[in-house]
Amino acid sequence: MSTSILYHAFGLKGIHYESTHFLGDCIYINARMTDQYVRCPECRNRKASFKGQKRRLLRMSPIGRKRCFLDLLLHRLKCLRCGHLWWPTLPFMDGKHRYVRSFALTALDLLKFGTIRSVAEYLAVGWDLVKQIHKERLSLLYRSVPLHKVKYLGIDEFSIRKGHEYMTIFVNIEDGRILHAVEGRSKEKIQPFIEKLSKKAKKLTAIAMDMSGSYYSAVRGWLPHVDIVFDRYHVSALMNQAIDEIRRGQQRELDNLGQKALKGNRFLLLRNYDSLEPDRKARLDALLKANHPLFIAHSMKEQLRLFWDEDFDSAKSFLEVWIKDAMQSGIGPLAKVAKTLAGYKTGLLNYFKYSITSAVVEGTNNKIKTLKRQAYGFRDMVYFKLRLYHLHTQRYSLTG
Ligand SMILES: [Zn+2]
Repeated sequence: MSTSILYHAFGLKGIHYESTHFLGDCIYINARMTDQYVRCPECRNRKASFKGQKRRLLRMSPIGRKRCFLDLLLHRLKCLRCGHLWWPTLPFMDGKHRYVRSFALTALDLLKFGTIRSVAEYLAVGWDLVKQIHKERLSLLYRSVPLHKVKYLGIDEFSIRKGHEYMTIFVNIEDGRILHAVEGRSKEKIQPFIEKLSKKAKKLTAIAMDMSGSYYSAVRGWLPHVDIVFDRYHVSALMNQAIDEIRRGQQRELDNLGQKALKGNRFLLLRNYDSLEPDRKARLDALLKANHPLFIAHSMKEQLRLFWDEDFDSAKSFLEVWIKDAMQSGIGPLAKVAKTLAGYKTGLLNYFKYSITSAVVEGTNNKIKTLKRQAYGFRDMVYFKLRLYHLHTQRYSLTG
């Protein structure tokens, strides 16, 4: 070991190497500070005398398979011009942290390949230390979000706890990055970011979202020039809800008659007909034959899927016919879907203008699920959000 290795390999400047000790699994490197980086914080004078000393033990990156510590002799300084007394901070020190900067960088490098827990285990430190290093790094990286180039956004939500706590995320559709996350899904919660978009995202032309009224009205209010796109995933979710509702209504009637015909058939009704295996198709056909409202709703659902294969002109008349048929079906939940779609016709047809969906958002949801499984995510919401902003860099299996 030498002063020059400490500098080149570990970025330790302003110290002089003295000796090395081995104790158990650890290597201790003794060094003392030099006057190379001395500068009075009061008068900027570079001349000072040493007044008192202390030892500080700072963690370094491992050497081979051994844990490694810098045992540093630090001098208190007295300015020769103004007499100011101070404990110096050397260039490799990270505030009051008990590790050198290059240790933090090693942890961050390892986090590209492993989870917080595995990195902590490898470095033989607590996971909270690795988390704190990561959090500080991410806070710096995502201090401000560049919005000026964003053209297409997706807004989506996911539940953060079982029950009714939600988080809304804004995703740049072109690169899948989560630009913003906020707890809640009400207009009030998302409004601050929408306002920010109205000031900074000058290239924003379209936003894909679900048909919940709060997103819609916030975007309409602040971004009147931006087109809203309702995508197929949310439309099919809406339709599936209606089918479910009809099925449950039918089931209640059958229960009263002592029949069990619909139990266990839910997934048959919700799956795309074409993707069902032949025997399941047959089962579904028999079921639909016996239940007229379900038959109607199911064929309307299958028909609605074809909407997305149309082009702009035919899509418009297709939608009008579908809405009319659904309204006239006499089936309550179906008519409700028709009413919703009628209210959002422009947004539905905008799909054919931009061909954007929140599909990227949905893909991101899988990564979020993995992240959510880590309990620490929810103890620290600030960190959890930072991890969301960082998700686009992380491979799926390593989000933990
Ligand atoms: Zn001074």
